[in-house]
Amino acid sequence: MSTIRFMEEIRRRYGGETIALCYQCGTCTGSCPVSKTSDRYNPREIIRLALLDNRQEVLYGDAIWLCASCYNCQERCPQGVEIAEIIFTLRNLAIREGKIPKLYEEFANNLVASGRLAPISKFLEKKRAEYGLPPMKPVDIEAVNKIFSATGFLELFSRSKGEKS
Ligand code: SF4
Ligand code: SF4
Repeated sequence: MSTIRFMEEIRRRYGGETIALCYQCGTCTGSCPVSKTSDRYNPREIIRLALLDNRQEVLYGDAIWLCASCYNCQERCPQGVEIAEIIFTLRNLAIREGKIPKLYEEFANNLVASGRLAPISKFLEKKRAEYGLPPMKPVDIEAVNKIFSATGFLELFSRSKGEKS
């Protein structure tokens, strides 16, 4: 495990550079649609825990996986903290340590197998036809896998699965 401070670890990654600018005003939480519906989610608190070096609680808790990536917080933060990007960074760090929720693992498995997050069911195709929408086009899975391979996704994902088993 890294010996550098957690905040430094985040600052060195894309999107994490702005984390130290946070002065805990709470505008992000006040703008967040997920915080409005769940007490379990509070972006200001995630940033605070990260600034206090609380690596374990941030990376091994469930909160970082609840963000809907809507960017409301980021657009309104008076300090220009790139909160949504920081959440992505935290997820990336968590995955590197084998922490990936079941649902996201399923999404990843589907992506690798079919190039889609979820399979297209007969029911969905029927509904599309009823609404006058064309059938879904097949995915160029070879091209998708080239992207996975170039970005290191496959290696990261299989390592994450290996660490769990
Ligand atoms: S809005 Fe920005 S400065 Fe205010 S608490 Fe959230 S991240 Fe920190
Ligand atoms: S990007 Fe995430 S943290 Fe920010 S407002 Fe949207 S759901 Fe909340």
